[in-house]
Amino acid sequence: ATVPNGYSHDVVETFKAKWEQDTTDLPRLQVIDEEKKFTEEMPDYMKTWGLGEAGFNYNVVAVFGSQSTGKSTLLNRLFGTSFDIMSEVQRKQTTKGIWMSRGRGMHVLIMDVEGTDGRERGEDQDFERKSALFSIATSEVIILNLWEHQVGLYQGANMGLLKTVFEVNLQLFQAHKGNEKTLLLFVIRDFVGATPLVNLSNTLQADLDKIWVGLSKPEGLEDCKITDYFDFMYTALPHKILVPEKFDDEVSKLRLRFIDPQHPNFVFQPHYHKRVPADGLHIYAGGIWDKIQSNKDLDLPTQQELLAQYRCDEIANVALAAFTAKFIQYKRPIESGSVIENLGPEMLEARNVAIKAFDKDASRYHAEVYKRKRLELLAKANTFLQTYYLGQLKNLHKKASGLFKDTLTQNIKSPNYDFLTAVQSARMAGDEYFLAGAKAILLPETDWTYEDEHAQLEADYEEVASKARADEVRKMEKSLEKMVQLEVNEPLSLLLNNANPGAWHKVVLIFHKAMDKGKETLIKQAKTAEEENRRGDGGFKVVVEAKEQVKLYDPIYCVMSICVLDASHKFHMCHQFGNPTHCLFSHNQALKLLPLFGNIDLSEDTDFVISSDDVCILFSLSYDFDFEASLTILSESKQADLTQRFKRESDAFYLEAKRSTVATTAK
Ligand code: GDP
Ligand code: MG
Repeated sequence: ATVPNGYSHDVVETFKAKWEQDTTDLPRLQVIDEEKKFTEEMPDYMKTWGLGEAGFNYNVVAVFGSQSTGKSTLLNRLFGTSFDIMSEVQRKQTTKGIWMSRGRGMHVLIMDVEGTDGRERGEDQDFERKSALFSIATSEVIILNLWEHQVGLYQGANMGLLKTVFEVNLQLFQAHKGNEKTLLLFVIRDFVGATPLVNLSNTLQADLDKIWVGLSKPEGLEDCKITDYFDFMYTALPHKILVPEKFDDEVSKLRLRFIDPQHPNFVFQPHYHKRVPADGLHIYAGGIWDKIQSNKDLDLPTQQELLAQYRCDEIANVALAAFTAKFIQYKRPIESGSVIENLGPEMLEARNVAIKAFDKDASRYHAEVYKRKRLELLAKANTFLQTYYLGQLKNLHKKASGLFKDTLTQNIKSPNYDFLTAVQSARMAGDEYFLAGAKAILLPETDWTYEDEHAQLEADYEEVASKARADEVRKMEKSLEKMVQLEVNEPLSLLLNNANPGAWHKVVLIFHKAMDKGKETLIKQAKTAEEENRRGDGGFKVVVEAKEQVKLYDPIYCVMSICVLDASHKFHMCHQFGNPTHCLFSHNQALKLLPLFGNIDLSEDTDFVISSDDVCILFSLSYDFDFEASLTILSESKQADLTQRFKRESDAFYLEAKRSTVATTAK
């Protein structure tokens, strides 16, 4: 290899010195062993090699060639690896299966592939094909190592190997010709220099073309060219044992092609990259080997997709585990009714962190799969968070409900409160709290809502408000009753004490006056109720309307009843407990009053009526009420009966009183 322009001996030496400084531990790993099993230790080794997090920032190169052509020796010199080298003395095969290591001072994975020459593994040509498939599927660059004297030997072992490489390549890439290329770097060993390198490379290229033409191509690819799939580079190295220093110099120059992107012959051109992220290489390589081993059809796009699915799931699971762990602390508090402060921002932050963690590694994988898995992750995260969201929403609901109740209670304690305003302000307090809390935990990119919970909260408000409303109505009734009684009692007792015909009409007038006043109050209250109703606080109106009906008759009926009771009461009191003098008066009085109080006289108020419905509402019972009949307090026969009893009893009283007066006078 010649030193290209700008690469003086000094530059090469500087690179070499720097390269030698890297002392990272670079153990080798047997990727595929003698039993043709794929290693399980690759992820560990990738970490040891410092490539676990490399993403796409690494390259893969494999070496091919006949047995004992100094492949392992070259790799060790070129990359600082420690692959086994056949001892000069024993001369038996060393490299079994496929070994891998990292190159010193570079993000390069090197595969030392077991060579074949038919001598030691003659019966197992199968492995040659399989390892070729494996190497082509995973490597960007394949070093083909051969002795100078092998060049031009078209029938030699090397050509068989190349034929295999081309065939498996066609098999692998038939679906997408030209998209992915592999670089074949020919290294001609024990190069003497008698024949110029360019002549050797021309000979090799001609042989390759010949092989290519002779290959049976898959359908549709009959016309494909070798250059659709491969780029070629040729280089040569002097005899390692005869001219060791020259060998070393040339190897150092060759190394530049692997470590210096500025080098005109830099081997790792981006389009050779297999686009397998470092953290998925073990899955990808292992999967490919499985397919190869079981002789199943192998195509790389499918493998890429499978890899993406597997790795995206893995990455998502790791991200999810870290994500869910953050929320365990909130599980109990939420279950026991606490409202977690900052839950919304924390959920969003945690979800973002999880998605970011996923994106960081997963975005390198197959784009469609990545997108799909990202959505899946988002959905999983949302499902997980929804439990917390709903829990918190429930607790917000409970607290808002309590807040409503407390505020309402407080509001209706203040003097001159207005029930409608009291309810409205309590609702505002509850809603403000609930909606602010609910909005704070509502995450974007979810289908979450809080409408249902809010509707339930409204129902809670209504329940509390309707209880308060019932109390309110009861209060109204009481004050109305009081008002009516005040209005009625005094004039009524005055009237009854001076009872005379026409009294019943006066009673009715008193009631009408009281009724009008009551009506006025009720209308005021009903207005408030209606306003409340209009603003969506249904229920109040119904209550009040019913009560309004009742209330118009209630005081009247009550007073009527009192009046009736009072009238009959007077008789009983008189004849049971009255003193004789009083009784004498009562006797005459009573006899006079008997017809007056015995019947409610509505002859002047013919339109006055109490209906059966009113009575039912009033006493909350089904009552077959006969207004006409109710006007008769004492039937005529009962009145006659009472008159008789009265006469008899008062006569007796009178006699007794007289007797005792005479006795006292006689003394
Ligand atoms: P591999 O089987 O292709 O990996 O070959 P090895 O690296 O194990 O080397 C096989 C033998 O070839 C060893 O005895 C080496 O000393 C020897 N060898 C290594 N490099 C060269 C070289 O450049 N020229 C010659 N002639 N022999 C070499
Ligand atoms: Mg070897």
